[in-house]
Amino acid sequence: MKLELLLVFAASLCVDGAPLNSKGPGKHNKLLLISFDGFRWNYDEDVYTPNMDQLVQEGVKAKYITPPMITMTSPSHFTTITGRWIEDHGVVHNMMFNSTSLLKLTFRNTLKQSKWWDNGALPLWITAQNQGLKTGSYFYPGGGVNYSKQAVDRFFVQKEGYVDNNETHWQQRVDTIMGWFTEEDFDFITLYFGEPDNIGHRVGPETDQRRRIIEQIDRLIGFLRESIRKHNLSDHLNVIITSDHGMTTIKKQPDVKEIKLSEFIHFLNLTHFDILDYGGFGMIRPRNGKVQEVYDKLKNAHPNLTVYKKEEIPENFHIAQNSRIQDIVLIGDLGFNLNSRMILYVNKGDHGFSNQEMDMKMIFRAFGPDFRKNYLAEPFDSVSVYPLMCKLLGVDPAPNNGSLSDTQAMLLDYTDAGGHAGRIQTSLWLLLAVMFVLLVL
Ligand SMILES: [Zn+2]
Repeated sequence: MKLELLLVFAASLCVDGAPLNSKGPGKHNKLLLISFDGFRWNYDEDVYTPNMDQLVQEGVKAKYITPPMITMTSPSHFTTITGRWIEDHGVVHNMMFNSTSLLKLTFRNTLKQSKWWDNGALPLWITAQNQGLKTGSYFYPGGGVNYSKQAVDRFFVQKEGYVDNNETHWQQRVDTIMGWFTEEDFDFITLYFGEPDNIGHRVGPETDQRRRIIEQIDRLIGFLRESIRKHNLSDHLNVIITSDHGMTTIKKQPDVKEIKLSEFIHFLNLTHFDILDYGGFGMIRPRNGKVQEVYDKLKNAHPNLTVYKKEEIPENFHIAQNSRIQDIVLIGDLGFNLNSRMILYVNKGDHGFSNQEMDMKMIFRAFGPDFRKNYLAEPFDSVSVYPLMCKLLGVDPAPNNGSLSDTQAMLLDYTDAGGHAGRIQTSLWLLLAVMFVLLVL
């Protein structure tokens, strides 16, 4: 009898000592991932943003986070949703291209091409669905195609020509996804907005127009928080707000000598394919036997141009090990766009520059029942957002390059770990006391 009592008591202690994440299916809170395209890390510092300021008090802020190298919309968004470096997920550009057939598709048309996105790295939507969760994507890049023949449960894709800056449309988008969470019990939704990227390109980041759009985004965040309250989701929904890259002002003549590659190489004679005139990152496939000649002609051609042969690309870029990366890779110094044959580029702002440049860094905010309040997180790589999302949703992660140690300190669970260990220790003392009493009796 004494032994039985002891065993029952010991068993109850084992339950108390279970791992923190063993909540079981359906016990985790819902998750909303919001991306504001091109939201540079410090865009809220020269604008009045009461709602974002309040979020700092009521949630988590990282000073900034670092996008993957190739600081472009589709490559970076896909790193966030897969937790993989670009060489592993294969989405190496906004445009689908084929350097043999010379095919090129625009960004918006590429959003519907499974063969550009589905390269073996499963995005979180699919991994979560395979583990019984319901997921959706509203305009998030990569959300509109099939992975291993599976589609996201519900998705909308931005159409060619759609201008994504209407505040009423933004609010409707928030209302729609709140309905998905409450009426249809979705677990995980990704929500994308095309600003402040569009305005940053068009007029440049250091402008009043950019500040006005940040005020509009701040109002939307206030609307979102009110909508979460109205839908009784405050205690059940975690929200992560982030972006895909920053933005910098493009340097123009006469302030600088712009990069125009046709001044240094004869495109028709030397190159088979190129993907240039797209911000600070570009690639060239030379004609057969012409790699060295193209490289030699470009290597020291312009003081603000860095040229790599594919095999020379630094490993920490995490881009070289992919067949879509061409023989020659070019990166402009911050603010120097890569122009090919002529300078047509009319954008005042751009990205695609090194992810080590502060202007390419982006925001990270989070709030909800599983996040600490008034917590400032150290900067980290965006590849680590993925394991954080898996932890929040209770999803077993697919293989990934991120690290939960980058982000776990922002979770309440993490601070609870000490308290939990404390409880186990107390329980051990109790067990010893009971054993003593039972033995004495
Ligand atoms: Zn973007």
